[in-house]
Amino acid sequence: MNQDPDITMKSQENPQKYKYMKAALKEAQKASSINEVPVGAVVVYQDKIIARGHNLREKAQSFHAHAEFIAMLKASKKIGSWRLEDCDVYVTMEPCPMCAGAMIQSRVKRLYYGVKDPKAGVVDSIMNLFEYTFNHHVEVESGLCAEESKIMIQEFFKKLRNK
Ligand SMILES: [Zn+2]
Repeated sequence: MNQDPDITMKSQENPQKYKYMKAALKEAQKASSINEVPVGAVVVYQDKIIARGHNLREKAQSFHAHAEFIAMLKASKKIGSWRLEDCDVYVTMEPCPMCAGAMIQSRVKRLYYGVKDPKAGVVDSIMNLFEYTFNHHVEVESGLCAEESKIMIQEFFKKLRNK
């Protein structure tokens, strides 16, 4: 049989991934509305969103209040385990070292992220933390709804400058 590699690829793809990233974008919007840099995240387990989070660094005055970190903590609480090995994390921006480290520590299955972060991203931009041989390997898909994430962040900073 003649197998089309594109079809094989697509059959392994998560058809729901755009829906989940849209939910993460909605979280980013919430951050923006309270003057936080618009980054949002959701955690998906067994095809359901079990936790959401948005950047709250200023409001909480907490360096770990990044969108995906908050969502992962909530997910862990919900599952009742520190292991998030059957969970996928969707976040609108490339994770920083702290959040990417937390993904390795909690054994997240797959990360989907939107726009790259040239200043702090450690999945593609500054380095690729996930290519090192830790005890757990996080799979990654980047660039999901990247344009929307990018525009949201650009608009946010434009608004700040014009204040
Ligand atoms: Zn982070």
